[in-house]
Amino acid sequence: MALNKTKTDPELGHRVHEHLVLNRVETPTVPNDLSDADKTNAIEHHFRGIMEALGLDLTDDSLIDSPRRVAKMFVSEIFWGLDYDNFPKCTAVENKMRYDEMVVERNISVMSSCEHHFVVIDGNATVAYIPGQHVLGLSKLNRIVEYFSKRPQIQERLTEQIYFALQYILGTDDIAVVVDAIHYCVRSRGVEDHGSSTVTSKLGGRFRTDPALRAEFMSIVNKH
Ligand SMILES: [Zn+2]
Repeated sequence: MALNKTKTDPELGHRVHEHLVLNRVETPTVPNDLSDADKTNAIEHHFRGIMEALGLDLTDDSLIDSPRRVAKMFVSEIFWGLDYDNFPKCTAVENKMRYDEMVVERNISVMSSCEHHFVVIDGNATVAYIPGQHVLGLSKLNRIVEYFSKRPQIQERLTEQIYFALQYILGTDDIAVVVDAIHYCVRSRGVEDHGSSTVTSKLGGRFRTDPALRAEFMSIVNKH
C-alpha cells in the first residue's frame, strides 16, 4: 500500500513515538530539519557516489536516472515510516458491544528492509488482541504493521514496535504479535540459505499468562 497522506495522524504518531522511547524499542534516529525534498537531493548525491565507486557509467541511458530513482524510493516508498507525520490515523473507539474474545488479523504482509544490509525482509505478521475498553478497525492493524515496516529494521524490533504501538493505542497488554519473514541478506549472501525464515514474537498480558489462550493464538498462527 502506498502512503496516503490524507489518512495520517501526526499527533498520535508523536505520542506513540514517546511510548516507544519509554519502552526502549524506538529505532535509533538523530532528528534533522531536512524536508523530504532535501532528503531526496542528499540521497541522490550520495547514491551517485556509490554507483561511481562501483565503476558504473552514469552517462548510460539505463543508469542515468538511477540515483534520483533510488532517492525517491527511499524517501517516499520504502522508508516513509521513519517520519511520524506519516503515522496512520487509527483512533481506537469505545467497545460498545463489550466484545471480549480474541480479535486476530492473520497474514498481514510485511515488506521491510534489513538495517544491516539494506536489502528486503519479506514475510507476514499475525496480530491479535483482546478488546478491553477500546476496539480498533481491523485494517488499522495492517496499517500499523505497514508503518513500522517502512523503515530500515531488524525483525525483533519491528515485532516490539508493533506490540508497543498497539499497547498504547488500545490501552491493554493483551496483545500478541508474530512476524515470520525471509531475509534476503541471508538468502543472497553470507550463509546463502534459501529455505529458512525467521520467526519473532511478542506476547503480552493474558497471551503471556494464560496457556490456553496462548495455545489458541499459536494454532491460528500455524494454520495454513
Ligand atoms: Zn541483513
